[in-house]
Amino acid sequence: MQDCLFCKFANGEIPVTKVYEDENFIIIRDINPQCKNHFLAIPKKHYKLLAEMTAEDSQTLGLILAKIPTLCNELELQNGYRLVINQGDDAGQTVPHLHIHILSGEKMGWNPAR
Ligand code: AMP
Ligand code: ZN
Repeated sequence: MQDCLFCKFANGEIPVTKVYEDENFIIIRDINPQCKNHFLAIPKKHYKLLAEMTAEDSQTLGLILAKIPTLCNELELQNGYRLVINQGDDAGQTVPHLHIHILSGEKMGWNPAR
């Protein structure tokens, strides 16, 4: 998609240091880390919301979710980690290209599931 920052990162139009890349997605460091380690897993295909996913997109997202824990050294996941997907305005989604925040490397205080 034109004028999408994360598409440009994914297709190489804007250079960015990629912690990981395969045919489905890239992982980069967040420019404004909220934790000792704050990464973004960005699917190469542009869509904003989980609600927009095709069956193929959800398969790809499953592969991405399965890959993340295999990168435990690179992402420092040994002691646990948190995944966050902001969806829409109430969640404060600022980049309209689906991405998974990966937070790790320190004890996190706020547990959204409690
Ligand atoms: P969200 O608010 O869930 O849409 O998350 C967007 C994230 O992208 C924020 O955590 C930003 O800090 C991050 N971000 C924005 N621009 C960049 C950039 N140029 N490089 C890396 N991360 C970025
Ligand atoms: Zn995009």
